[in-house]
Amino acid sequence: MKEIFTVDPFLGMNPDKPGEVCNLVKGKWLQSKNFREDIVDPLNGGNFLRVPDTVDYSEFMENLDICSKSGLHNPLKNIERYLMLGDVCAKAAELLREEEVSEYFTKLIQRVMPKSTSQCQGEVTVTRVFLENFSGDNVRFLARSFSNPGDHLGQESSGYRWPFGPVCIIAPFNFPLEIPALQAMGALFMGNRPLVKVDSRVSVVFEQFLRLLIHCGLPPEDLDFINCKGEVMEELIKQSNNKIRLTQFTGSKEVADKLSVVLKGKIRIEDAGFDWKIIGPDYDSEWTEYVANQCDQDAYNASGQKCSAQSILFVHRNWEEDLLPRLADLAAKRELKNLDIGPVLSWTNSQLNEHVNFLLKIDGSKLLFGGDELSDHSIPSNYGSFKPTAIEIPVEELLTDKFDLITKEVFGPFQVVVLYSDREINKIKEILEKITQNLTAAIVSNDVLFQQDILGNTVNGTTYTGMRARTTGAPQNHWFGPAGDPRSAGIGTPEAIINTWSSHREIIKDSGPY
Ligand code: NAD
Repeated sequence: MKEIFTVDPFLGMNPDKPGEVCNLVKGKWLQSKNFREDIVDPLNGGNFLRVPDTVDYSEFMENLDICSKSGLHNPLKNIERYLMLGDVCAKAAELLREEEVSEYFTKLIQRVMPKSTSQCQGEVTVTRVFLENFSGDNVRFLARSFSNPGDHLGQESSGYRWPFGPVCIIAPFNFPLEIPALQAMGALFMGNRPLVKVDSRVSVVFEQFLRLLIHCGLPPEDLDFINCKGEVMEELIKQSNNKIRLTQFTGSKEVADKLSVVLKGKIRIEDAGFDWKIIGPDYDSEWTEYVANQCDQDAYNASGQKCSAQSILFVHRNWEEDLLPRLADLAAKRELKNLDIGPVLSWTNSQLNEHVNFLLKIDGSKLLFGGDELSDHSIPSNYGSFKPTAIEIPVEELLTDKFDLITKEVFGPFQVVVLYSDREINKIKEILEKITQNLTAAIVSNDVLFQQDILGNTVNGTTYTGMRARTTGAPQNHWFGPAGDPRSAGIGTPEAIINTWSSHREIIKDSGPY
């Protein structure tokens, strides 16, 4: 293990080195005296990690004053920091290229958020390529300004990208590295000073990543990192007296809406997804295997715990006979030993069973596969352990008062399947209009007119279209985030960073001649 890291990636399997997470405050790593008692090994319920249960947040609060509202840097202040951050990215990316380091993060992610090795590696790769993208001059290019000639000689108006200053990042459990890493770097690039809080069940991954960044030259005072319960974070935000000038929140819709009020709207959100995929009328048997595989991965990778997971699948009846049996076959191949299916961290089996039973009471609904618990495992009962599940629901039922129940986001290996025919396409569009979450979507069809019709009548922020379309995929090479909500945040690309982490400032130079 590299000397940079303080935690063994096999947490809890090495009794001499129990995993312990620290807070970072005022540039110093702080060991805690109080640890969370409810954080257990997701695979067997054992002790494996000591995570601070911070309740006294006064130092974090004081630190909100370190950074003024004009930021740690902006295009007219401390501009050498743009290059410094580009350099940190270059060095960190280089380290992540080393097999030892990349494997370290892959294993650590898998230990706290059990998902398949390729899913964990994916996070490391995305983070590395993101850092490569913002190496060298690319951080300063994010703050590119523009100018327009004015009305008379000497007048010129210029638009600048300006930071918010002290900001906050709240990240969920499902992407322990990628989400906090990309958002924290984006915040820093634009000149902000973030206070970062990651779900305590997985925060060890970001803590170790921060150690790597500091090793690569990031000034440790550039950000604070707190490990605390959600309600403590909410209290901190309430007590901060509006000093936090922007909060970027990734997590559930309920918490996002609550924080929007607490923060008086100063929030950018990546919240829940109820993501749809529609398979168009242009059935082609040569594509069945590809489409079935993509559906299986979109619905069940990471045990369905992706905000972009396929929650509802609309299948044109032309595909029914060929596709549906393949979906069942692929789901049956998923095994706990490979973590192709695994613990569900925010839904218990009784909640999952209850939801399945509610849906199966709907007229005409049918269990296509799954619907019960995994067997032969040691996953603790506070986490779910459920088979990949699909329930078919008749189109008409989505146009009744059962809509909210059917379109509830289940953050687990679960999807709703709806069959439709040509004459029902308007009903499908009506359903898409009613879905309130507009994160990802997929239009699986090479029929350009069908694509245009669905694309033109919907708003999802990240929409794939074409026979290879998918709902999941938040790489660094395209925008990822919801649309249709003025609070929407994005992640990954220059546009996402600029939109989320800076605001527009116009400076009009007008100095004469008289
Ligand atoms: P959650 O809202 O319970 O938790 C998310 C984060 O918020 C955690 O760090 C948690 O500790 C913190 N938190 C909880 N209550 C808080 C409060 N009152 N004040 C401040 N912080 C608080 O979400 P979850 O259930 O753990 O995560 C899954 C949800 O996140 C799903 O709905 C999923 O769709 C969504 N998600 C969205 C994206 C996206 O990019 N849109 C990405 C990942 C996850």
